[in-house]
Amino acid sequence: MTECLFCRIAAKEIPATIVFEDALCLAFDDINPVAPHHVLIIPRAHFATLDEIPASEAALLGHMMTVATRIARDRGIGKSGYRVVVNCQAAAGQSVFHVHLHLMGGRPFHWPPG
Ligand code: AMP
Ligand code: ZN
Repeated sequence: MTECLFCRIAAKEIPATIVFEDALCLAFDDINPVAPHHVLIIPRAHFATLDEIPASEAALLGHMMTVATRIARDRGIGKSGYRVVVNCQAAAGQSVFHVHLHLMGGRPFHWPPG
């Protein structure tokens, strides 16, 4: 059995509020939201970090991004605005080592992000 938390969520071994899934990826609500909308989009395939995703998986990354934009539109924040973030490695704030997009919206965001 895998030790990876997000692989286990994808395998439905650990519960999550799944908001979208298809053959390539899964999206679920973040357990500790930092915005009114905070959804994580993960590939079903395990890659620990963004740095580990090869160029041959560019279509997978693009697909995950379009899933994020679709969810944002479905939630009515496509025009008002939202933020999509990938934290790559601990120094950038990554704490779960299965690559994921954060989709966050429903409040203003500042720049630089800190
Ligand atoms: P990061 O720090 O970029 O690796 O983001 C990991 C995210 O996963 C954080 O925002 C956590 O709140 C979230 N998280 C951790 N455990 C779970 C879980 N069991 N279900 C949903 N989200 C989780
Ligand atoms: Zn994993």
